Amino acid sequence: MIRAIKGTKDILPADIPRWRYLEETVRRIFENFNYKEIRTPVFEETALFARSIGEETDIVSKEMYTFTDKGGTSITLKPEMTAGVVRAFIEHSLGAQQPLSKLYYISPMFRQERPQAGRLRQFHQFGAEALGSTSPLLDAEMIQMAYEVLSSLGLKDLSVKINSLGVPADRENYKKILREFLSDKKDMLSEDSRKRFDKNILRIFDSKVESDQELIKGAPLLIDYISEESKNDFEIVKEYLSKLSIPFELDPKLVRGLDYYTKTTFEIISGKVGAQSALLGGGRYDLLVEQLGGKPTPGVGFAAGMERILLACQNENSFTVDEPSIDIYIVRIDKELDLVVSEIASKLRKENIATDYDYLQRSVKAQMREANKMNAKFTLFVGGDEFKEGMINLKNMKTGEQQSISVENLTETIQSIIKN
Ligand code: AMP
Repeated sequence: MIRAIKGTKDILPADIPRWRYLEETVRRIFENFNYKEIRTPVFEETALFARSIGEETDIVSKEMYTFTDKGGTSITLKPEMTAGVVRAFIEHSLGAQQPLSKLYYISPMFRQERPQAGRLRQFHQFGAEALGSTSPLLDAEMIQMAYEVLSSLGLKDLSVKINSLGVPADRENYKKILREFLSDKKDMLSEDSRKRFDKNILRIFDSKVESDQELIKGAPLLIDYISEESKNDFEIVKEYLSKLSIPFELDPKLVRGLDYYTKTTFEIISGKVGAQSALLGGGRYDLLVEQLGGKPTPGVGFAAGMERILLACQNENSFTVDEPSIDIYIVRIDKELDLVVSEIASKLRKENIATDYDYLQRSVKAQMREANKMNAKFTLFVGGDEFKEGMINLKNMKTGEQQSISVENLTETIQSIIKN
């Protein structure tokens, strides 16, 4: 038997209402902030990700699904969305049409990570990117928008962590200072962190190994070495977040995995999803557009993991969705009325009334059980003497009330009943 690939998941009909609720919440809130949806291809040229995310990051060095297509081009399934959005932004000169582009997406992503709870190989993210302004107000608003989605879903156990990574010159300067601090401790670091020491030293802060955490405890912090401009912007972000009543904590060790971040970075963590606790992360990336060949354009954005958010919602029991239901279930009393029933169903469906009936020649009793199972709001009984007289019985499944309606103007009558 062929099974789904490890780290991928089927989203079955029973799961769909929760997914839809999440997607609708995202769309509603993002559109209130005037973000417009963008959809980019599932795969891109590998070079796009290597150049934007950074060769030394875990994503590019270990986790990408990369293959050569029949034309000999190296292709990668998107592991994140910012690179694709920025590519599209440049390719279609979106910046020339609008000084500030506010874009959002909902899309599957692909990373070859070790699967565990909250970590998949095909997962889904929603996120937003604003391209064209350096205003720190936009950073704060991005955090507000992300926070609003999570709190609208009823999540309570949330913490917002923020930091500033300064500009690249600050970071280069700081990396030297950190390297000096760690130079006599390098041999005691874990193997992964020793590799990071040479290639991407900031990432040592992300190490989950306890002895690594001990070693970097007293390390100098990037936030103390950022430029005046970065510091001022960061102050504005914090001030605005306070005005917006968004609780946040400063986390000077929040460095994030991707190379392209500048200045503000943030994460929102849930206390209810176990080890993989980051629900979303983002930050400013003022140099990325230029790095990918576009006109210098500042940007800020975030990406949120939908499976993890739904897991947190489930663990906090934060929202409930209505049971799936249909408007009308038609019970066929006389076997020979099959065609009549299908004709009635067809008419009702044309009027946007969700309708179903029995295709399995089941007894009246079994059909009624089915109506209950489908959570039908009304059941229509077609057949018997009543039908011979041109009437059909309609039963309100909630109240048990029944009424006889004429076949002639059946759809109109049902429509007005359903509306009330
Ligand atoms: P990142 O793009 O790495 O900053 O991730 C942003 C968010 O996407 C994370 O906070 C997670 O919620 C989610 N995410 C990242 N990788 C995975 C994965 N392999 N499986 C499930 N969710 C993920």
